[in-house]
Amino acid sequence: MQSKHYSDKLLEVRDLKVSFPTSRGVVRAVNGISYDVHRGEVMGIVGESGSGKSVSAYSIIGLLKSPAVIDGGSIRFEGRDILSMSRKQMEKFRGGEISMIFQDPMSSLDPVFPIGHQLTETLHSHKKISRSDARQQAIQMLQSVGIRDAQQVMKKYRSELSGGMCQRVMIAMALLCGPKLLIADEPTTALDVTIQDQIIRLLKDLQERNGMSMIFITHNFGIVADICDSVSIMYGGTVVEQGSVNDVFYSPLHPYTKALMKAIPRVDYKEYERLIPVEGMPINALSPPGGCGFHPRCASCMQICRQKAPARKEISYGHSASCWLLEDVQESEEAVVNEK
Ligand code: SF4
Repeated sequence: MQSKHYSDKLLEVRDLKVSFPTSRGVVRAVNGISYDVHRGEVMGIVGESGSGKSVSAYSIIGLLKSPAVIDGGSIRFEGRDILSMSRKQMEKFRGGEISMIFQDPMSSLDPVFPIGHQLTETLHSHKKISRSDARQQAIQMLQSVGIRDAQQVMKKYRSELSGGMCQRVMIAMALLCGPKLLIADEPTTALDVTIQDQIIRLLKDLQERNGMSMIFITHNFGIVADICDSVSIMYGGTVVEQGSVNDVFYSPLHPYTKALMKAIPRVDYKEYERLIPVEGMPINALSPPGGCGFHPRCASCMQICRQKAPARKEISYGHSASCWLLEDVQESEEAVVNEK
């Protein structure tokens, strides 16, 4: 794998914080994350359920639902401040410049209208376009996502299509207006393994053909290795490691990244070799642990890890992580304190 170098930033997320006030307290779902996405880059965001992957993506596209609150930070797209856009500006922006495909295609398509109506409506809401041109473009887009009988599919309802076909339709809808950035939120989770592979290949092919950037949210490290250029590893609402896929795969820095990698099934595993799950439970966002959020699960935990959160440290160009192991910790604090 060759690392790519990019010069042109498309998206800049800086110190983004999102919380959910609840009757039991405030859930800090995203706790000061920062990353960049460049033109033509595919960035993976990896983490367990509840790590804040999807919430951060929904903030970018303005789809956070109440009671979520953006408490701080900034999101800039081609230099424009997304968080200060009016509702009307956001509606134009969403679908036009940034699009998203969701985990469950079945629940993302409207069951009441035929597919053709939903596709042409998307075009009408972003472009001044005649009825027949919209229909033509919708058919061409369905064909470009591998749907051969596109004219027939235009007449069908969601319930008449398979899960894989629905996801192809969702991808067609997301790409209709030629977005510069596509956010794919675990787009293959609801599909069976063979279809998953087809959809991932299709997305990568379309991304390369259109020169789009893509944020691919997943808990599957294998997919990241396959299609992404860079990766951000999220844990408990923070990015704990970030870098090119090459750097993170071949020289992981953070104990959580290393633990995730040990849990990936590999084709060269022998029958007697077992996958090693990440020990312990994910963070309780209502009462997160002090210090490093990963410390209750970390086999390398030191005294200082329980007291103080480590700062982000860049180890090589673009490759950084937040862990006390990367700092010059005093000898007295080096003893590993977690019992395993
Ligand atoms: Fe483990 Fe400490 Fe690093 Fe956190 S800071 S990941 S507890 S070694």
